[in-house]
Amino acid sequence: MRVLVVEDDPRIAGDVAAALQAAGYVVDVETNGEEAWFRGDTEDYAAIVLDLGLPGMDGLSVLKRWRHGGRSVPVLVLTARGSWSERVEGIDAGADDYLPKPFRVEELLARLRAIIRRSAGQAGPVFHAGAVCLDPRLMKVAVDGVPVALSALEYRLLAFLMVNSGRVVSQQELIDHVYGHDNAQDANTLEVLLGRVRRKLPRSLIETRRGFGYLVAGRRE
Ligand code: CA
Repeated sequence: MRVLVVEDDPRIAGDVAAALQAAGYVVDVETNGEEAWFRGDTEDYAAIVLDLGLPGMDGLSVLKRWRHGGRSVPVLVLTARGSWSERVEGIDAGADDYLPKPFRVEELLARLRAIIRRSAGQAGPVFHAGAVCLDPRLMKVAVDGVPVALSALEYRLLAFLMVNSGRVVSQQELIDHVYGHDNAQDANTLEVLLGRVRRKLPRSLIETRRGFGYLVAGRRE
């Protein structure tokens, strides 16, 4: 899953990006508000971490512009410590959650998992599809309770399809969320990866909709 981190403090941005990558996300970092707004407006992210104090355009204005333009991507805002007014303004501007600085990256990861699963219409922490369950807290997958070993890329692909279960995901969307936009791979590479994931899981789990994309049937179907 692709996540955009908008933070002008290079140390915080680096720590957050490293923690997200270790947790299986594809990460883009922006340090300028104006450029961050454009990226969030034109590209597809599973979630965005947004600092409020930014050069170019402040974070609240960035968020308001995304929401005004109809972008519903889940957003976690980073606020100054003790600033209740920033938290209120952030939530009123359309933030899904906030995290005061300084924070532990473990808490940021937990809040991010929560806003992603809520945006997927999921109440509990574990994703289910048929006999398959996927736990993003541990990056673990099991079939009928039996653990399945997946590589980091295989896990990333399955996680994106399961979080979006019940919806047909296009090939390009899947490529972006698995490999990242700046490291674009072609459809053949994706097919090879899909083949590996399918061999490890029940065959019917990932359906191909020719000309449209891929589908993991969910409870919403
Ligand atoms: Ca800042």
